[in-house]
Amino acid sequence: MDEFSLNGRVAVVTGGSRGIGRAITTALARRGASVAICYRAREDAARETIALVKQHGANAYAAPCDVTDEASVTTFFEQVRSELGPIDILVNNAGIVRDGLIVFMTRDRWNEVLETNLNGAFLCIRAVIREMLLRRWGRIINIVSASSDVGAIGQVAYSASKAGLVGLTRTLARECARQGVLVNAVSPGLIETDMLSALSEEKRQELLRDVALGRTGNAEEVAPLVAFLASPAASYITGQIIGVDGGLM
Ligand code: NAP
Repeated sequence: MDEFSLNGRVAVVTGGSRGIGRAITTALARRGASVAICYRAREDAARETIALVKQHGANAYAAPCDVTDEASVTTFFEQVRSELGPIDILVNNAGIVRDGLIVFMTRDRWNEVLETNLNGAFLCIRAVIREMLLRRWGRIINIVSASSDVGAIGQVAYSASKAGLVGLTRTLARECARQGVLVNAVSPGLIETDMLSALSEEKRQELLRDVALGRTGNAEEVAPLVAFLASPAASYITGQIIGVDGGLM
């Protein structure tokens, strides 16, 4: 058996409609997984991703689901089970940034980021964890960010949300390891997606000075690690936070 194959596995990628989520979705499909994605608003982008997945001959399912809304999450995961079967792999990728210096950071903006990036992941994990533990197999991969390690100016809420997700990853890994559920995080650096397009050229050049490779990455350079962590080849890896950041130091 190919130790990198995901044949027969069912995966969910939150925010799989565009950016890093789209690249992860296609990487999982290419290795044989059936993949469900959720998105918040951009149905057009989700449709394009599903078309890409189908090119690989994989089963695919897409539906709107706001990860901050518990009822929406419950309904979405039930739909995935009835369309594709029990869920083996969860990638918590949906995320937002709402930058601002602390003096301008309103409670609403703070809450919006924490609700999406941290509480959203918690709700999605709770929607799958029981079945993974009972079936004694599961992979959870959380997409965090280098920004929580380096302390990016203007990103108090974003950094706090991702640091929270790092703590959740390590704790959940310990809680679930002996039932065969492995939990890891992938920590991208500067990746060319809509999220990065808000950066000014000046800020971009400043940030790139700390990247050993001296360039931004693209979503397709993040996705293979996620597919690897979901595969049989990664059976002895859990509780790890692995950077894909071009050597950010
Ligand atoms: P992106 O291009 O802005 O895409 C974000 C995705 O998340 C979209 O599919 C979006 O859906 C979805 N989403 C946002 N809020 C949601 C919600 N409440 N419920 C469900 N889906 C929601 O972002 P990206 O750059 O690919 O980032 C993906 C992940 O990587 C995020 O967790 C981000 O924090 C992390 N990351 C990114 C970078 C980077 O440089 N790009 C670096 C480090 C970490 P719609 O299309 O419907 O809006």
